[in-house]
Amino acid sequence: MQLTHKKPLTDMDIFEYEDIRFADIQLLRYRVPAFDTLSLKQKLYVYHLAEAALWGRDILWDQNCKYNLGIRRLLEDILLHSSVARDDEDWTAFMTYLRQVWFANGIHHHYSTDKFVPGFSAAWLRGAYSGIPSPVIGEDEFCMLSSVIMDPDLMSKRVCQDADDLLMASACNYYADGITQAEAEQFYRAMKAAAPDADRPVMYGMNSRLERAEDGTLRENTYGTGGLYAHHLQQISLHLHRAQEYAENDKQRDIIRLLTEFYRTGSLDTFDRYTIEWISETEGMVDFVNGFTEVYGDPLGLKASWEGYVNILDREATHRTRVLSENAQWFEDHSPVDSRFKKTECKGVTARVVQAAILGGDLYPSSAIGINLPNSNWIRSVYGSKSVTIGNLTEAYDQAAKGNGFREEFIPDEATRDMVNRYAHVLDDLHTDLHECLGHGSGQLLPGVDADALGVHGSTIEEARADLFALYYIADAKMYDLGLTPTADAWHSNYYTYMLNGLLTQLVRIQPGCRIEEAHMRNRALIARWCLEQSAYWAKAFGMEPAMELMRVGGKSRLVIRDYATLRQYIGQLLAEIQRVKSEGDTVAAAKLVERYGVDVDGALHEEVLARYRALDLAPYKGFINPRYTPVKDTDGNVVDVTISYDETYDEQMLRYGRDYS
Ligand code: ZN
Repeated sequence: MQLTHKKPLTDMDIFEYEDIRFADIQLLRYRVPAFDTLSLKQKLYVYHLAEAALWGRDILWDQNCKYNLGIRRLLEDILLHSSVARDDEDWTAFMTYLRQVWFANGIHHHYSTDKFVPGFSAAWLRGAYSGIPSPVIGEDEFCMLSSVIMDPDLMSKRVCQDADDLLMASACNYYADGITQAEAEQFYRAMKAAAPDADRPVMYGMNSRLERAEDGTLRENTYGTGGLYAHHLQQISLHLHRAQEYAENDKQRDIIRLLTEFYRTGSLDTFDRYTIEWISETEGMVDFVNGFTEVYGDPLGLKASWEGYVNILDREATHRTRVLSENAQWFEDHSPVDSRFKKTECKGVTARVVQAAILGGDLYPSSAIGINLPNSNWIRSVYGSKSVTIGNLTEAYDQAAKGNGFREEFIPDEATRDMVNRYAHVLDDLHTDLHECLGHGSGQLLPGVDADALGVHGSTIEEARADLFALYYIADAKMYDLGLTPTADAWHSNYYTYMLNGLLTQLVRIQPGCRIEEAHMRNRALIARWCLEQSAYWAKAFGMEPAMELMRVGGKSRLVIRDYATLRQYIGQLLAEIQRVKSEGDTVAAAKLVERYGVDVDGALHEEVLARYRALDLAPYKGFINPRYTPVKDTDGNVVDVTISYDETYDEQMLRYGRDYS
């Protein structure tokens, strides 16, 4: 369950774009040209699946923190109805805070999970509340919500990974107040131990909130159309049923049947059956994810956050990933890992390049650009997995990337920068494909090794494994032979941007004085710093220049890569070791690697990078405004078309979602 299968942006994708901006956030729009190529039936399929994706929004808000929905109601009420002055700094601070809360689906930053610090005072908030003629929030609730908003020590972190008791220190709402980490772990240990089929374990705990009964014992409160979040899951199921009428094939209909059955019963066995069917459906143009999916939001990595999205196949771009999939066994056979840790038969690596049609729940507004599901280990090993790269999102980032000064600042060497400008986009997409289509699906655990053995470091090691697999093969002549890269050495651009990110530029996402905490960031730091240390070590041993070096030029740190081929050898060595750690469940080695290379931040270097980045005045995080779908009816009420529009503003969209899907 510690597996994490999303590849978020690299910091090379951080660029300015002409659109809405606040705090550390930039909003982009994405286009869905593939929607226009669909039949009316397919458009209606997309429409109802999109509605089902949007209906899960409040579930995520509540999962993130139990006060989130109340706070959103309060803030939106102030925005819409308060008589408070709207032309001063307090109002500006309020709007920034509200937009941050909207973006993060709650009061904690979507990435750092730290609680937002409002720029207005408690007295101002009280005045704004008093200015609402008939507030939706009563006085008592207001007092409580106000203290949650204003008191920096209350619920200060959504997901805490570094405390004696992770549950007590985390504000997320997957466990009722007062349940300790030890109690929760004991509860799920016992549940696993009592399981009838240990080889094929369901995802214990993923679709429930752990609560305490009156007699003091723990019990699960399960999400479902008759349980927790009943109203939202009923609406979701309703739209799924409508979508079923317009499905492209029987398998899609069957998938929806099993999913709605799961929402009705909460049965995790049904969920596994649904998942298996979902993996094998690859014929349709339209696909979707709808449900409890990612476990990043739970410090114990068991409870899954709600997310939903709909995608449409991009036929041309999918050629690239099909070629990779068809050669999956070749890559497995030729990887530098010990043969005991390799799969003798690589199954079901399906890969599609898609266009997102709607983003919902935990994928909105901040979205992954590649997704590999399912998360169930046994299903992955028996039935394979489904990978997508979301091409219209990466394209939106690339469009936003032109000429904002970032590359000029951090890649001062012109020849290197030219190479990056020419190849980075294509090669970054290829890296994502390799990571998702092959990386996560490669390798195997030794018999008897628990997939969760690596504990808190499991996510970092798993992401490192997928990234190393991608880095190792992106440099392989096979890529050029297969026609997947424009030139035989275009991969240099990917090595450069990857190392630059891991060593320098991803530090812009970390607050001064803080450590690296997020799994993907830890993994990048681990790989880049390990390679940097290898370079220095072997350079010293042989009295030569390092393959890779961080140099100081004119008071600024600069990444210099002299020998890409040698760098690739280091990547191969680390891949072999990380795969060993994973396959053997070597907890001690995992902790050593992560703690030595992936966590700490050099204070002086951090300060320097932050100052250089600040001077560029760019937003470090990006997210997306969804398009809007509208059914068009004729005079008899028959739906004759579904239109797509891109003109809704961020504020309008957020208010509409709050109104229509709540
Ligand atoms: Zn991944």
